[in-house]
Amino acid sequence: MPLNATLTFYGAAGQVTGSCYLLNWNNQKVLLDCGMVQGGDQVTDLGKFRFAFRPKDIDAVVLSHAHIDHSGLLTLLVAHGFRGKIFCTDGTAGLLPVLLKDACYLYLKDLEWQNRQRARQGKSEQDPVMSLKDVESVIRSLQPQPYLQHVDVLPGLELQFLDAGHILGSAIVELWIKGQQGMRHLVFSGDLGNPATVLMHDPSTVRNADLVLMESTYGDRDHQPLTNTLEEFAAALDAADQAGGNVFIPAFALGRSQEILYYLGLLYHQGRLKQKMVVLDSPMAIEITRIYNKLINELDHKDTKIFAKYGAHDLQSFLPILHLTEKVEQSMALNRITQGAIIIAGSGMCNGGRITHHLKHNLWKNANHIIFVGFQAKGTLGRRLVDGETRVKIMGQPIVAKAAIHTIGGFSAHAGQSQLVAWASAIGGQPQFYLVHGEPNAQLALQEKLQQQGISVEIAEMGQQINL
Ligand SMILES: [Zn+2]
Ligand SMILES: [Zn+2]
Repeated sequence: MPLNATLTFYGAAGQVTGSCYLLNWNNQKVLLDCGMVQGGDQVTDLGKFRFAFRPKDIDAVVLSHAHIDHSGLLTLLVAHGFRGKIFCTDGTAGLLPVLLKDACYLYLKDLEWQNRQRARQGKSEQDPVMSLKDVESVIRSLQPQPYLQHVDVLPGLELQFLDAGHILGSAIVELWIKGQQGMRHLVFSGDLGNPATVLMHDPSTVRNADLVLMESTYGDRDHQPLTNTLEEFAAALDAADQAGGNVFIPAFALGRSQEILYYLGLLYHQGRLKQKMVVLDSPMAIEITRIYNKLINELDHKDTKIFAKYGAHDLQSFLPILHLTEKVEQSMALNRITQGAIIIAGSGMCNGGRITHHLKHNLWKNANHIIFVGFQAKGTLGRRLVDGETRVKIMGQPIVAKAAIHTIGGFSAHAGQSQLVAWASAIGGQPQFYLVHGEPNAQLALQEKLQQQGISVEIAEMGQQINL
């Protein structure tokens, strides 16, 4: 008999970002994720954003992980009246304050800049839609939970987090929904990690379910073996050493930066790293690395046990030539170093942050090497460089790109197609699957593969409501 319950897809349906699903039963409402759609102008997007439900009617939120495309609208949810609890893992609770404060701060800075432009055009100012106070209330509402522990979210709704192996604290969400007509077991995959990624466990296996919401980011392809990627990375560093300049790595503060630090540590201890210093030049990446260090026991012991072999105990001590440059003056002083340094700075796509300053000072010198280790979206400076443009503008100034550009495409924090199929096939109970968090091509390809395994699977549509 169907339960008197519905699930509505309010985001990440037919696209990757904006993860948000509403579970409604017994007059109770729970939100699964509350993510931001990324890629547009945040001031405009947030200014006109309206939730498809009343935030004050939501009783609780369950969060899969800290990435902004899953958590970024929590601040706005609170600003619009949400007062319930937010359930997440310990790792997510550690990361969320850093990410939400940064997102809110960038929004307020952009708003201020746009308001100055508007004033000059005689237009009225736009009021902020959220503030750092709202971020504080999000943080106060967090209910951190360890993995593998059953907790009651609301009467009749039980929750358990399993490790999704994607970033620190990432979870697969298991929910047991009880009604008068019976019980339903709902599984939300969150973002499933790439088993090859260092520091992260393999995504947990789920024993059984009645209904599965599953991500499909790489539903249409497999990643190349990680060993090839690492050799490419080491070769790029060698080439840079021979050229006699510096190496610049634009990297995302959460996940990729820590992964790169780990690999640099390995190369250092293998005696393969020729550069004399590594600089983590990003206050946010430094803060996040400290959180990774603090929660080191949550990381994959297979990878972290090597620390002790070299008298180290965390990511920082594993790389003795690592320098952390928190202050702006320290970052600016790096301009005086002309060779032998590896500088890791954000943003990952070079559309802002300290990396743009470094590129302005260094991109025009042919002894320098830039190594891209992450996805570059269309329209970003990173993408233009990866596509081979030799004349770019940085902060309004025309610059010739003479530095060598390397694109290492094999790092990924998401499971590839075969890994997704294996994860789904292992779930017992013949659940109905709904694909979320993917572009249409990836979803169609994954749907076909899953159907070949005898799995019943639909592609979730925006605004679609299903009965449980
Ligand atoms: Zn994610
Ligand atoms: Zn995601």
